[in-house]
Amino acid sequence: MLGLMQNQPLLISGLIQHAERHHGDAEIVSRRVEGDLHRSSWAQVARRSRQVAHALDATNLLFSDRVATLAWNGYRHLELYFGVSGSGRVLHTINPRLHPDQIAWIANHAEDQVLCFDLTFLPLVQAVHARCPQIRRYVALCEPDKLPRDSGVPNLVSYEDWIGGQPTTYDWPTFDENSASSMCYTSGTTGNPKAALYSHRSTTLHAYAAALPDVMALSARDAVLPVVPMFHVNAWGIPYSAALTGCKLVFPGPAMDGKSIYELIEAEKVSYAAGVPTVWQMLLGHMKPNNLRFSTLKRTVIGGSACPPAMITAFNDDYGVEVLHAWGMTEMSPLGTLCTLKNRHLELPPEEKMKIRLKQGRAIYGVDMKIVSDDGQELPWDGKTYGNLYVKGPWIVREYFKGEGGDPLVDGWFPTGDVATIDAEGYMQITDRSKDVIKSGGEWISSIDVENIAVAHPAVAMAACIGMKHPKWDERPVVAVVKKPGAQVTREELLKFYEGKTAKWQIPDDVIFVDAIPLGATGKMLKTRLREQLKDYKLPNS
Ligand code: AMP
Repeated sequence: MLGLMQNQPLLISGLIQHAERHHGDAEIVSRRVEGDLHRSSWAQVARRSRQVAHALDATNLLFSDRVATLAWNGYRHLELYFGVSGSGRVLHTINPRLHPDQIAWIANHAEDQVLCFDLTFLPLVQAVHARCPQIRRYVALCEPDKLPRDSGVPNLVSYEDWIGGQPTTYDWPTFDENSASSMCYTSGTTGNPKAALYSHRSTTLHAYAAALPDVMALSARDAVLPVVPMFHVNAWGIPYSAALTGCKLVFPGPAMDGKSIYELIEAEKVSYAAGVPTVWQMLLGHMKPNNLRFSTLKRTVIGGSACPPAMITAFNDDYGVEVLHAWGMTEMSPLGTLCTLKNRHLELPPEEKMKIRLKQGRAIYGVDMKIVSDDGQELPWDGKTYGNLYVKGPWIVREYFKGEGGDPLVDGWFPTGDVATIDAEGYMQITDRSKDVIKSGGEWISSIDVENIAVAHPAVAMAACIGMKHPKWDERPVVAVVKKPGAQVTREELLKFYEGKTAKWQIPDDVIFVDAIPLGATGKMLKTRLREQLKDYKLPNS
């Protein structure tokens, strides 16, 4: 017997319709490429997203055709999120930090028909357009008078001209909720990038789950600053969850330095922010020497890389901001776990609470996870045993776009490539990417643990731990360290700093001071490149 409830597909157009009807006057504030602050609202975003849908019809785009963006976080990008997917096309957000060769490759692989870009990225578009013959229309996200002359980019129009004359009403089509809505290529370190292809259903379910109180806890009373980019994994789904809850959105555009972010938080009364640790490092680095305080910020979601304990303490103790440590990946839309305390943890002493907050957290409803040994045996949830982290759920990849890489699943589970522990209460903690785990004397050493201790030292700005070949122990950890500007610390002082903070055999064998640690397009440390840079290095005791 079937249930007798209405069968309404979960479509992205439903999110923007809800935002317009119930939260039409909630503000959308954007720092633009031009440097000014632009003010819009959910009602205006909805109206203009309908104009986008008409513009795509006028460009003769078919259902499921791909529309690419190379853009910062801003209102026009938000309008494309809803206009492109709502009308049945697929939004392909491209990471502008990729090399032009990679951008050309993925635009061709995705068969993008239209490319919308912020003027910052004109040089990238000029570098790739001749290699992307299938792109029929280039749209510069600007007013007509800012459209670059003699750019050499074919079929170029300004966004305002493109949508300007279009009607502001549109009948959003109804279709199968499993239809593709957007796509994002993973920044794989080996081989060609592969795309996760999200659906209307997966995106809407993820938006519901992400907004829950023990997840991002978004509400109509929040003013949310997604520093996490809309060009990578849909800014952790915040644009969709924001439409569902009707919160105010504040977009930083290209200005992500500490001063600009701080001023935006204060001016727009931001209560909630989301970003990767490197961005927050810049913000805290600006606030401390200038003796600044937050007047409205209450919570910040930090993910993408492990959040160092020193950052949790700084936000929590110095500035009264709760840190929500989150984990996920492109293939997971991206949210998998988020760390909030349970009721009984509230009475724990601060150092015990900190041990929990450092973990990447509990599975969000909809995500199932397990840890397995290299031979596929399920491992216990005891908070100690390390294993390969596998996940499954309705917003987790089943297959990559065009079947690239074959079947990624193992008995229906997606192997994340992360190594983790899970404790008896279900709190998961990432110890490493599986290829970064350091195997020493038959034991595993977590590179994240080694890095977290280094960055707790006041002179250290950044640290990356890698395993080096050792004749007796197989591998031993060494830590590459970038000092804070003007700060001094010696190798011996830093090694001493580890004493008492970790088991003796987990203390790195050496400290290597470097000017910078190589970062990938999504801001993560590129340990493969670091290993190449240190290929002639010899361990002191080997
Ligand atoms: P991406 O697909 O580019 O978003 O990268 C996903 C990967 O980033 C994960 O598989 C993890 O290795 C890493 N990652 C994301 N969040 C965290 C976190 N909170 N702590 C440690 N690693 C993380």
